[in-house]
Amino acid sequence: MRKQILAANWKMNLTQKEVHSWIADFQTKNWNSEQVQVRVYPSAIYLKDFTTAQVHCGAQNVFHEVRGAFTGELSVEQLQSIGCQSVLIGHSERRELFQESNELIAQKVKACIKASFPFVLCCGEPLSVRKAQTQEAFILDQLQKNLEHVSPDQIDLLAIAYEPIWAIGSGLSASVHEITEMHLAIRTFLMARFGEAGQNVSILYGGSVNTANAAAIFNCANVDGALVGGASLDVESFYELWLALCA
Ligand code: PEP
Repeated sequence: MRKQILAANWKMNLTQKEVHSWIADFQTKNWNSEQVQVRVYPSAIYLKDFTTAQVHCGAQNVFHEVRGAFTGELSVEQLQSIGCQSVLIGHSERRELFQESNELIAQKVKACIKASFPFVLCCGEPLSVRKAQTQEAFILDQLQKNLEHVSPDQIDLLAIAYEPIWAIGSGLSASVHEITEMHLAIRTFLMARFGEAGQNVSILYGGSVNTANAAAIFNCANVDGALVGGASLDVESFYELWLALCA
């Protein structure tokens, strides 16, 4: 059975004091489940704050080189050395604001594969592409290019987050129909590219998931959880999402 994942992407939010208070609130809730894994992707400076928190924590970004003169970057080896458990790759904010190309993202994927480091590959189309109704070709092209160096025996390291750019932080989630259609297209791609193993890849939805729309989104076929920005900053709302996914 595929892993269900509820992942918090904090982006560049929260001070250390706020992180400590979030972790304290988090620890008052019951997050035990056989079927759903909770993950937190804080700013990298807080990763070590999670080592005693009993929760999967990951980084929001990584560089593909192993070590060297790359000021401001972090390597897979460095992340692994402090107990970081996975990484987001290719979030649309990295692609759009920091000009990360499909080729660069493929290099990052390759670095994770080489070090057996789990990663969540994010993909998503801009509004112009959705308006032109070419979103499926756009997403499959991203996946094709980003997963170029991956073979079927390595895909247990992979999860995918489909996050339409126009839905991120906008308060306007994709519809259940749009989500179902795209997740099916991604599943079909994975099976064509990797065979039966493609069934085991978790595909998360991201883009304005909140306590009002979560249950309907989690009911869609091929939705194996969510990558959550805004609604993950508050433990109460994040926990409601958790309960909706476990239901
Ligand atoms: C995200 O940053 O990955 C995201 C989905 O953000 P939000 O939930 O705030 O739309």
